[in-house]
Amino acid sequence: MYDVVIVGGGPAGQSAAIFTSKAGLKTLVIDNEKGLTQRALLKNHYGIEETSGAELVKTGKKQAERFGTEFVKAQVTNVSKNAESFDLQTEEGSTYSAKQVILATGSNAKLAQAIGLKTKDGREKYVKTVIEADEAGHTNIDGIWAAGVAAGVSVHTIVTSGDGAKKAINLISELKGERYVDHDKLPAK
Ligand SMILES: Cc1cc2nc3c(=O)[nH]c(=O)nc-3n(C[C@H](O)[C@H](O)[C@H](O)COP(=O)(O)OP(=O)(O)OC[C@H]3O[C@@H](n4cnc5c(N)ncnc54)[C@H](O)[C@@H]3O)c2cc1C
Repeated sequence: MYDVVIVGGGPAGQSAAIFTSKAGLKTLVIDNEKGLTQRALLKNHYGIEETSGAELVKTGKKQAERFGTEFVKAQVTNVSKNAESFDLQTEEGSTYSAKQVILATGSNAKLAQAIGLKTKDGREKYVKTVIEADEAGHTNIDGIWAAGVAAGVSVHTIVTSGDGAKKAINLISELKGERYVDHDKLPAK
């Protein structure tokens, strides 16, 4: 049983995973490795002069793994709710259980629609349909959150990675019952 399973391993999903795993939540990212960020050349991501999308996602994966996030390459085809958890089925025939689920599936709303999440027309270029979610990231199914392009934010890596972090911080805060802050300090000189 995972505390959090994140569907989608782009900037939003990986950034969310860094926060949830660093907070001690057992985290799995399931990604089909068909993300379009692989094709991007990034010159507008704050703090990084220039990099490729492939490099950003590769580094993000390493960073999340360092805090314990597990990664699986698979296509999630269904998410079903049990009494206190969710079962996620993959096309490859595996089932993963999670207490909380974050959908960070980019511009592909098929899974969201298949499992009964409310969706709406996207307002950003190239994005037809997004998940209806509140400011915090809650969808209409309690325990399923939406992040990144899937949640309707602007199609830029700095924004989608920030949104993944924001939704993860909200999820962690709800589980802990108080606002969560993740700060590391340099050792005193
Ligand atoms: C050619 C190109 C150039 C770009 N250039 C820039 C740029 O210069 N600057 C900039 O800021 N942004 C750029 N972008 C946009 C940027 O890449 C995206 O806006 C951002 O990365 C989206 O992040 P995300 O995590 O929300 O979604 P994504 O990166 O799309 O990640 C979603 C992931 O979920 C996977 N997935 C979806 N459904 C499932 C499922 N059912 N099961 C398993 N996996 C699933 C997808 O395959 C994908 O890997 C560019 C994009 C492209 C395509």
